[in-house]
Amino acid sequence: MTNGYDILIIGGGPAGLAAAIAARDAGCASILVVERDCELGGILNQCIHNGFGLITFDEELTGPEYAARFEELARAGGIDFMLDTMVIDISADKVVTAVSRTSGMVRIRAKAIILAMGCRERPRGSLNIPGYRPAGIYSAGTAQRLVNIEGFMPGREVVILGSGDIGLIMARRMTLEGAHVACVAELMPYSGGLKRNIVQCLDDFGIPLLLSHTVVRIEGKKRVEAVIIAEVDGRGKPIPGTETAYPCDTLLLSVGLIPENELSLSAGIGLSPVTRGPVVNEVLETSVEGIFAAGNVLHVHDLVDYVSQEAAAAGRNAAAYARGVLAGSAGAVPLTAEDGIRYTVPQTIDPVRMPEELIVRFRVDNVYEDRSVSVYFDGKRMQHRKRSILAPGEMEQVKLKKGDLVASPDLKEIVFKLEEA
Ligand SMILES: Cc1cc2nc3c(=O)[nH]c(=O)nc-3n(C[C@H](O)[C@H](O)[C@H](O)COP(=O)(O)OP(=O)(O)OC[C@H]3O[C@@H](n4cnc5c(N)ncnc54)[C@H](O)[C@@H]3O)c2cc1C
Repeated sequence: MTNGYDILIIGGGPAGLAAAIAARDAGCASILVVERDCELGGILNQCIHNGFGLITFDEELTGPEYAARFEELARAGGIDFMLDTMVIDISADKVVTAVSRTSGMVRIRAKAIILAMGCRERPRGSLNIPGYRPAGIYSAGTAQRLVNIEGFMPGREVVILGSGDIGLIMARRMTLEGAHVACVAELMPYSGGLKRNIVQCLDDFGIPLLLSHTVVRIEGKKRVEAVIIAEVDGRGKPIPGTETAYPCDTLLLSVGLIPENELSLSAGIGLSPVTRGPVVNEVLETSVEGIFAAGNVLHVHDLVDYVSQEAAAAGRNAAAYARGVLAGSAGAVPLTAEDGIRYTVPQTIDPVRMPEELIVRFRVDNVYEDRSVSVYFDGKRMQHRKRSILAPGEMEQVKLKKGDLVASPDLKEIVFKLEEA
């Protein structure tokens, strides 16, 4: 058992690195980052396309370049790293159990823990597509790792199911590597990815995006030989007679991301049924005191810049907690998402303890044009911001001012909703 770390961070991706740097800069002297991979940087290491860091650095960096800037800052001193080490348990009293080939099993106690484990892709098993289990079906992220890190081409004639950002990025990547991408099929009537990725990864390469379509059958016994794609109705049910066969040797799945939540569950942390990450308060503390969360383990982000911002806040708050100077909560006001808004992070706010300005992040449940994002305090409209377009693939944010909350005595509920502009 190792005692003696003020803060233990699980995951050395962009969230873990930003949290560690911010905690150190806030005066915390003993920080350990535990990372299961053999290098820091998380998913960014396989994202060799550009488009990272526009907000943070006002530059278009590749994923590895963005990660390298944070790694350099983190390695500048004051932070310990344990690589090739996987955390397998967090106990209720904040003892972390981890395993590695070199150290075997280690148990580490820390005053505060930051969850920064990222997310994982939904697999084929969750889709119920009939057919055998032939070779040639990959999650888009696995294919990305094979192409960009391992140097293998998963296939030559490709169909992609799901238009989340990883699917869109891989449509372009496979094309650039010499494969032919027949189409990207998307169950919903809108794409789950960023608009810029639809333009830069599909439109620029003439790859069709089939909205309201899905794969209804996979053909081939040893290797994928074709997929059958059908149009779906308003309830997502395939419409008989609309089936088209797409001969192919590879099917890439980009059908959603889920926060890595096993460790959160083992620690007894309450999860949101919508984000599937922990429920957190204004200091990004979970339902277990002293355990904080940030990045994709908390809710799936579109841009890494927001991951870094959120994680830095978690790092500062965890540092204050570890030093014993984080004020106790005097009461939590719940945030409710309604009428087109799926969720908010955080889910509760203590007006006394919140910073002068607090960013609340959320996603909408459909594509909306000319709407307003409204914020109500106990039925009184406090904000009404017009937006020309809102889409589920793009994370939104609203700033709440401490002064406004404190000036609303006995505040019971804050409601976020979409309204006519
Ligand atoms: C294909 C793709 C394209 C993207 N494109 C863009 C883009 O163009 N621009 C942009 O801004 N953003 C983009 N993003 C988003 C951005 O990369 C992510 O939002 C960001 O990487 C999330 O950071 P994270 O630290 O939360 O998670 P991750 O990067 O996933 O890091 C989590 C880390 O935790 C480690 N870990 C997990 N479990 C354990 C455990 N039990 N023990 C120890 N370590 C553990 C993992 O190994 C990993 O290193 C893209 C993402 C993907 C997947």
